[in-house]
Amino acid sequence: MTAQTGQISDLMARIAALEAERQQTLRLAHTDSLTGLLNRGAFTAELCARLDAARAEGRPLALFVMDLDRFKHLNDTLGHHAGDLFLAEIGERLRAEAGAGELAARLGGDEFALISDRSDVAARAQQLVAALARPHVIYGRVVSPGGSVGAAVFPADAADAAELQRFADMALYRVKTQGGRRWSAFDAGLRAESDRRRNLEAELRQGLAAGQIEPWFQPVIDTACGRMTGVEVLARWRHPTQGLLEPAAFVPMAEELGLIGEIDRAVFELGCARAAPWVAEGLIEVVSFNVSPRDLLDPGFSRKLIGRLARTDLPATALTIEITETFLVQDLALSRRHIERLAAKGVRIALDDFGIGYSNLRALMALPIQTVKLDRSLIADVAHDGRVAKLVTSMLHAARALGVRIVAEGVEDEAQAIFLRAAGCDRMQGYWFARPMPGDEMEQVLWAGASHQVAAPAAPLDRVARALR
Ligand code: C2E
Ligand code: CA
Ligand code: CA
Repeated sequence: MTAQTGQISDLMARIAALEAERQQTLRLAHTDSLTGLLNRGAFTAELCARLDAARAEGRPLALFVMDLDRFKHLNDTLGHHAGDLFLAEIGERLRAEAGAGELAARLGGDEFALISDRSDVAARAQQLVAALARPHVIYGRVVSPGGSVGAAVFPADAADAAELQRFADMALYRVKTQGGRRWSAFDAGLRAESDRRRNLEAELRQGLAAGQIEPWFQPVIDTACGRMTGVEVLARWRHPTQGLLEPAAFVPMAEELGLIGEIDRAVFELGCARAAPWVAEGLIEVVSFNVSPRDLLDPGFSRKLIGRLARTDLPATALTIEITETFLVQDLALSRRHIERLAAKGVRIALDDFGIGYSNLRALMALPIQTVKLDRSLIADVAHDGRVAKLVTSMLHAARALGVRIVAEGVEDEAQAIFLRAAGCDRMQGYWFARPMPGDEMEQVLWAGASHQVAAPAAPLDRVARALR
């Protein structure tokens, strides 16, 4: 074993230990500490599993979602401790209420859920309303905020777990906004509304054709010299009536509808056209694009991308494709094929959102991946959580040993930037430097930066941050 591989093994062992510790914390985090019920994450996993089983056995599955009605008032008048006592009491009631084949969870705040294999939905919903409504004595006072219930059933209403949750939420929302009866089940009226949402699909298709999808650009800073050396291209939808929409408002829907490939393609073509001159002028070196894990499941993905790239003026060596870590885990053989095909053309691959999933360093060693983007949830804690700081430092060491470049995402303040620079992080990106901006604005920043760079090649980060703001 050479000294270098020994060093890498040591680092990987340390990272594995830190990860194991984090996983243990995560496991403890499956239950809601206040009520002892499942929390939202564990509930979602459980719902999927139970729905799969129901589908396999050809039986229905109901989901009830619940929300307390005047909980805020209770909190405001008796204080948060009283609120917590009441939530714990509701937890007790739901645990007692849940029969065989049922499972209760706290989704957060004063929101609860019950997965049930009972088919008498109306009767069950009324029992839950009654259970929520029972008064309770706190600090010698009788409180009864009451609660509302929304229900949906697989397969009569919903086809999968996501739909089941969405439809039960819609039913609950109607109870909360319309008053009267304290429970509601998904029905034809709500289905019509759900269909209206589907119109957004048509709008998105039209929007794509009408050029409403725009590439925005966020600077990536080279830590050593403090210069902007790259941009990440991010999609925006200029919706005709709703204004500018961020990816969260349409990317998940586009993925569901199978439209994400077209969005990624539009962003890629427009983004390349805009940024290629910046690269040609030597203003930046790297242009990064996001691709959806769904795109990557297409066996023709890398071939098509290479073809598309050839029709732009962007050199392959300036292109980085950001792939999320979860995808690697999903289908390692296919990702290897895509990544190797792209790497052979000189395209670089970045592993996005690193550190929230499996932190798959083995994949890094096995694949030609040159860049890792540390997820912003890690960066958010880096300056004040010793454990996260240790984890990030170890990751940076390992990356250096492997010859991988690290980009820290979501750098929002000076303390984070200073920590990351000291820890040897190569690149940084985040609101502290600049938010994503449209192409025209990016161009102005780049021209201003070009003259600035001649005057001060090693501008300190704070000055770069100020210049970009
Ligand atoms: P991402 O790849 O992790 O992109 C970075 C996101 O973090 C961007 O959000 C960016 O605006 C945001 N961000 C950057 N710096 C900071 C910071 O300091 N603090 C905080 N809180 N956030 C920061 P955005 O533009 O809303 O994009 C969200 C996600 O949508 C992206 O996450 C990416 O996964 C996806 N996405 C964006 N554009 C595309 C696209 O063209 N195609 C596909 N498939 N996905 C895209
Ligand atoms: Ca990204
Ligand atoms: Ca990311």
